[in-house]
Amino acid sequence: MVTSRPGGASTAPYDSLNLADHVGDDAAAVGVNRRRLAQGIGVDPSRLTWMRQVHGDEVTIVESTPPAEVPTCDALVTAIPGTALAVLVADCVPVLLADVHAGVIGAAHAGREGIRRHVVTRALEAMVQLGASRERVDVLLGPAICGRCYEVSQDLVDQVESAAPGGATRTRKGAPGLDLRAALAVEFGRLGVAQVVSDPRCTVEDPALFSYRRDKVTGRQAGVVWIA
Ligand SMILES: [Zn+2]
Repeated sequence: MVTSRPGGASTAPYDSLNLADHVGDDAAAVGVNRRRLAQGIGVDPSRLTWMRQVHGDEVTIVESTPPAEVPTCDALVTAIPGTALAVLVADCVPVLLADVHAGVIGAAHAGREGIRRHVVTRALEAMVQLGASRERVDVLLGPAICGRCYEVSQDLVDQVESAAPGGATRTRKGAPGLDLRAALAVEFGRLGVAQVVSDPRCTVEDPALFSYRRDKVTGRQAGVVWIA
């Protein structure tokens, strides 16, 4: 599931269900919001696992929860029952993966850099190590900035396209643009993952979602996947 803005304790400009502790929001409010999220999905708050995201391709396999410290990486994978994995976003794509049969889940942070570095391929490989099978994996591509809104230089479009093709597009204004979810769908197709669902919402256009590009100083929603 992916959270949205309503229902939290944070005040403007983080109103209100901001789940990020690195954006200048009051730490106590973020704590309340994180506990609310854990309770909402029926997971012990200490077993809701976060990461320090750096737009890279590192994957952490969570082998015990809570982990000793918040891992620095852009994808988390686990097979531990009762554990939830969370990815923080406000325009980048939250990618949630699950092989329900094998009981193996993953959460990845896929922005322009993560896509160029194939972070979702690495996450899937880690899940396969834990016993997941590509044919059984279900993927949700959560709300993100859309291709009509995401203007970047032609140079950046070319860089991403040469490494991870499928996202090149034109924005509403006719400028070079990137459709991050289209690029990810192509990547999953190449990986043999057929069950890919894309949430069509655009973070920039939907006021119920946090958007960094729209608001600069703002909160983050979370994509969350868990094993009951
Ligand atoms: Zn848009």
